[in-house]
Amino acid sequence: MRKKDKAAKISTILNELYPAPPIPLQHTDPYTLLIAVLLSAQCTDARVNTITPLLFKKAHTPQQMVALEVQEIEEIIRPCGLAPRKARAIWELSHIILNKHQGKVPASFEELEELPGVGHKTASVVMSQAFKQAAFPVDTHIHRCAKRWGLSAAKNVEQTEQDLKHLFPKKEWNRLHLQIIYFAREYCQARGHIAADCPICSWVSGTLFKTEKKTSS
Ligand code: SF4
Repeated sequence: MRKKDKAAKISTILNELYPAPPIPLQHTDPYTLLIAVLLSAQCTDARVNTITPLLFKKAHTPQQMVALEVQEIEEIIRPCGLAPRKARAIWELSHIILNKHQGKVPASFEELEELPGVGHKTASVVMSQAFKQAAFPVDTHIHRCAKRWGLSAAKNVEQTEQDLKHLFPKKEWNRLHLQIIYFAREYCQARGHIAADCPICSWVSGTLFKTEKKTSS
């Protein structure tokens, strides 16, 4: 089967499984989403969702955030890990948003990626979820699924993103990136995938399916 046909069939299955995938990180506007995505680096969404209400109670705008000490931010966000670096980035990007962008999160990849602590994936999530612009943020879950489904043999997430963008129509990117993450968490985990219950690999790639089954048992 051609990769494009596989991709189309996978998209149909994901639409049936997750017709309206919710945004996992709680937020109220582009700024609070940006902070939540930054905190989610090497941390679970569930944990971020327990910490952001505490942080946003003290500061949910760039003005309020720069009024806090970096140390204060660090103490609140400590359970998310990498706290010193993330706290410094949150304070500095808030300062830049205030002084360079009139207090508004910029709606362009270039300007977002110039902010401290904001890489291409974080910028892509904000562009997709806050500004509804076409983007395909690829994390380790999506990278793994793309490889297992035979849609990409890329060694890094940047190349996987390019491969997936060629295979799926642009209008599907925003929804698909969420659908694949939900699918990966439910069925296609890094270890011990639930092969018997899986609605995808049984037809996508019988060979890969058997190999993976053997190595994971
Ligand atoms: S069979 Fe396994 S590897 Fe394939 S999609 Fe399902 S869970 Fe993922």
